[in-house]
Amino acid sequence: MQQGNIGVTSENIFPVIKKFLYSDHEIFLRELVSNAVDATQKLKTLSSVGEYKGELKNPTVYVKADKSAGTLTISDSGIGMTADEIDKYINQIAFSGAGEFLDKYKDNANAIIGHFGLGFYSAFMVSKKVEIFTKSYKEGAQAVHWSCEGNPSFEIEDCNKEQIGTDIVLHIDDDSKEFLEDSKIQELLTKYCKFLPVPIAFGKKKEWKDGKEQETAEDNVINNTTPAWIKKPADLKEEDYTAFYRELYPYAEEPLFHIHLNVDYPFNLTGILYFPKVKNTIELQKNKIQLYCNQVFVTDSVEGIVPDFLTLLHGVIDSPDIPLNVSRSYLQSDSNVKKISAHITKKVSDSLMDIFKKDRKEFEKKWESLKIFISYGMLTEDKFYDRALGFNLFTTTDGDHYTYEEYKKLVEGAQTDKDGNVIFLYAANKDAQYSYIEAAKAKGYSVLLFNDELDVHLASKLEQKNEKTRYVRVDSDTIDRLIVKEDAAKIDLTDEQKTAMTKIFSSQAPKTEKEDYIVSLSAMGADAQPIIITQNEFMRRMKEMSRLQGGMMGFYGDMPNSYTLVLNTDHKLIKDIVEKEGAELDSKVAPLNDEIAACKKQVDELKAKHKDLKEEEKPEVEKDIIRTQEARESELEKQKTELYSTFAASEPKIKQLIDLALLANGMLKGEALSEFVKRSVNLL
Ligand code: ADP
Repeated sequence: MQQGNIGVTSENIFPVIKKFLYSDHEIFLRELVSNAVDATQKLKTLSSVGEYKGELKNPTVYVKADKSAGTLTISDSGIGMTADEIDKYINQIAFSGAGEFLDKYKDNANAIIGHFGLGFYSAFMVSKKVEIFTKSYKEGAQAVHWSCEGNPSFEIEDCNKEQIGTDIVLHIDDDSKEFLEDSKIQELLTKYCKFLPVPIAFGKKKEWKDGKEQETAEDNVINNTTPAWIKKPADLKEEDYTAFYRELYPYAEEPLFHIHLNVDYPFNLTGILYFPKVKNTIELQKNKIQLYCNQVFVTDSVEGIVPDFLTLLHGVIDSPDIPLNVSRSYLQSDSNVKKISAHITKKVSDSLMDIFKKDRKEFEKKWESLKIFISYGMLTEDKFYDRALGFNLFTTTDGDHYTYEEYKKLVEGAQTDKDGNVIFLYAANKDAQYSYIEAAKAKGYSVLLFNDELDVHLASKLEQKNEKTRYVRVDSDTIDRLIVKEDAAKIDLTDEQKTAMTKIFSSQAPKTEKEDYIVSLSAMGADAQPIIITQNEFMRRMKEMSRLQGGMMGFYGDMPNSYTLVLNTDHKLIKDIVEKEGAELDSKVAPLNDEIAACKKQVDELKAKHKDLKEEEKPEVEKDIIRTQEARESELEKQKTELYSTFAASEPKIKQLIDLALLANGMLKGEALSEFVKRSVNLL
């Protein structure tokens, strides 16, 4: 027997292993099984080049738990190790400058293990003692036994072992007993080893017999050694991709599309990405993509490795070229990772373009589910935006789909305004905005359906990227002003009449905290509705965006909704009110107006006189007159407003017209609605 100290250069690694790797300590199993798989594959390689002449018996890696002995054993029939190799590969650990590194990466076990080649030693995270029984494939090799009790001293001696290969025996620590439980081991093997290239067996398959679960003679193999992503796309059928998806996500709905990634230059990358079927944003889940390194599961957090919008996809990425032994922030600046990320983005957009071109009908059918990914991608990745413009679809309220270019061509003729802007009209809700959509269609316009919360954001992006195009919601203005073709038709009222109508209708507009109403006038033709309610595009869009973004935009979110009541001065009912107002109020308003004019005149004259004087040079008496006259003027204005309100209140038709417009927009509710009904009955 020989004794010695493990060649740790500066520090004792054992406390480090326990302390720093504690949070991730389950990965010891992945590390040991990976080593066993490597050893098995190496022997196969040696055999194929004729360096190993013996028989390749059983390439399976066995994992066994013995609860009574408190041991977990990982056995392989791989290349094994000689005593010299143990000394070289196990006893000598390069471990200098550890303090600084550990400080930086204490939360990242992958980094620590990768950096120090500590895979084997991760066994000490869960063991008080680790033994190796190994026999090298080399001819006449002597089997050796190594053991170590979690301190720098180890023992090594010859032993009897028939088969070549290695058994690693872990004497599980008292505080890690969970790793002796079948269910825990099964869980970990399934998580980390599901797709390893060599069969991993854990106990025997069980079956129900005579009312009991009984062991069969068959090994319980955990893994699928040839997962779909390592095969050539040409060798796979559609069903194979679906079956593999099932294997990854047993409970998910069928995916929409898959994309097979297969690159070997300038980096190595394989994988399959799936577009999941989702009905709304809430169902979207990040971190469903699994990242593998040579078929060993590493993580399901791919942030930083693929662009954000692609973290919504499902599937597998396998690449030995993604540096895992670095921090996340470093990862994003790594040039290989940048290339990989750019490649995946390009591959995704190319595949979508392909599918779109090959089978547009099918693509359109799946568009509703697909749209969210595309919008998100276009909004967050400029490179993707450029590529996706060719297959990003616009859907009209009639359910037809167009690409951007197709749609622009379609509407350009009818929907270009007098300044040469192409106006894309859209509705957010087909039912709520029904009358506006109909009015637009009657004018020969097309209306898009933007019913997703990302649509407005994408519209803003499209406006920025494409000059002379604007997106306008159908209810954001009257039909003539949505797309202004020529200067507006002249309103056939005097200024005094305009003021009167504005004041009269303002006095009857709903007064709530959440809504603001302003009144405006427009000559829309005798056949158009008497009143139309519009909502300013800019304010509404800002509010919508603020809901998603918060922050600075939160300011808009808190503002009331601002609506405009547009009176159609060509409509008979409005004309009637103008006339009636004139008959009833002209005689009362005229003296007020005269007095207001007199006040104004006096004030204006005095102000003109004071124009070039310093403040102290202006006579006090005159300043007093200005003050009293201005006060008088506003008092008179108030009286006028009151005259208008009293008139408006005595004319139920005014409130009725406003309510009808609200009703058409689905905005008349509760008490206001029941009052409307009562008033309607009275008017009848
Ligand atoms: P790494 O695998 O990153 O090199 P490890 O600490 O896991 O680091 O292993 C160190 C070395 O010990 C391996 O490179 C390999 O040469 C040897 N080794 C570990 N486990 C086995 C095994 N089951 N069979 C043969 N050799 C092994």
